[in-house]
Amino acid sequence: MFAAFVDDLAGASTADLDAALAAAKRSRDEADMRIAAITAVVDSRQLFQDHGHRSVTGYLKQQLNCSAVEAGRIKSRARLINRHPDIGDALGASRIGAEAVTQLATAHKHPRAGERFDEFATMLTDQAERLEHSDLVIAVKHFVNQADPDGAFGDQEFHDQQRTASVRVDSGAIDLHAFGGDPIRAVEMHTVFERAVQAEAHKDFEARRIEHGDDALAHPMPRTNDQRKFDAMYEIFIGSVTAPADGKRPEPLVNLVVDAGTGVDVLVRHHLLDVDDRVEAEPVDPLTQRCQTSTGVSVHPDAALKAMIRGSVRRVVVDAHNVVIDMGRKQRLFTGKAREAAKLMVVRCGHRGCDIPAEFCDVDHLDEWAADTGATDQVNSFPLCNGHDIWKHRKRLRGRRDSSGRIHLIRPDGTVIKPLGARDPVWAEPDGSPSPRPELTTPDQPTAEQTTWAELTKNSTAASRHTIPADALVQIIDLRAA
Ligand SMILES: [Zn+2]
Repeated sequence: MFAAFVDDLAGASTADLDAALAAAKRSRDEADMRIAAITAVVDSRQLFQDHGHRSVTGYLKQQLNCSAVEAGRIKSRARLINRHPDIGDALGASRIGAEAVTQLATAHKHPRAGERFDEFATMLTDQAERLEHSDLVIAVKHFVNQADPDGAFGDQEFHDQQRTASVRVDSGAIDLHAFGGDPIRAVEMHTVFERAVQAEAHKDFEARRIEHGDDALAHPMPRTNDQRKFDAMYEIFIGSVTAPADGKRPEPLVNLVVDAGTGVDVLVRHHLLDVDDRVEAEPVDPLTQRCQTSTGVSVHPDAALKAMIRGSVRRVVVDAHNVVIDMGRKQRLFTGKAREAAKLMVVRCGHRGCDIPAEFCDVDHLDEWAADTGATDQVNSFPLCNGHDIWKHRKRLRGRRDSSGRIHLIRPDGTVIKPLGARDPVWAEPDGSPSPRPELTTPDQPTAEQTTWAELTKNSTAASRHTIPADALVQIIDLRAA
């Protein structure tokens, strides 16, 4: 059966394969919806007892031969959909997948935030259809934090209080361990480590270029990726004793993104700001509230306030559409720091599926066809990694903003790049008439920052998830230049 399918598809065009994938996804999503419906019935009628089980998860483990984790997920999806049939409809129509429903179910079954789930079910389901999965995970975490601020703060306090680290020497080798801490220091440490690893990679690229010149790509790097990570950690340790005592923190290691409402609330709550006759506004969509690092790690507003007072973070305030309106300085943005501000609006490259963090992206103009009339402010900008920036120009794609402020890439034929099964977004404005852009030529010459896929993965012991040709060029992003 499998071999016959592969034979059928072997010569298919990309469009045919996309259609086949969409059809397979539809069947899978519909089957997941049916399994949820059956589970809901077995669960509510306690029919698992007929098979000698005490719970529906035991029943699912037996019948589907799945793990306890998977059985638990199916159970939570069934309970969620049983209460919110609309979510089942979205799954059955393949607009969202089981993984997204599982995310919604984590919010639904949360002991305290779950009480507010019903209010936000429609909104969250819409997010599940629109957002990239990792952004949905952030949105759901954010919903839980906003709906249960004390719980979220408790978790962060717990991690901070339980923070620990150890450095042991075992048979002449180092054994290093650290866990816990607050989200801001966690992101700081992560950033320092990533930068140090990248600096080691640079040393290797340089050494190889000096030794082999134009032929550098044909030669392996002097160290493996794992070896560079270790050496980076060593440099961080040594750096702590060689840095001057009055050395300054580099500016800034962590960017904190806080929406205006949350920012004002926390200041008022701690009596740092007096606001007379505060109007009781209607309930705010928690998904438009943000209090997180620019890499998407949730930060409790109290912890953010502490960091602001300490002055170790750059403060950023965003409006309801995640547009940065204030960066902790007196003047309003929209000029000057526009490039940095634009990168803070999003967590990663604007091309769906690409995980390169926004802080290492180029900032492209959304309305580039109207460059002469278009403003150069950050409302009009769109971070893309180097590779996808080139790709966007080559394919003559353009960005378009939807009614919630999110940007989508549009092909020259007007179709939107979106997940299979998802509906088109609701656009913020009627479509303009973009004038065609000339095809851009880009240099095919590899730079010192490029290597081959084979070289990049030669020390990887994990089975490859990709079928990338060994000689394919891979772009290495220079973190220090970002
Ligand atoms: Zn990208």
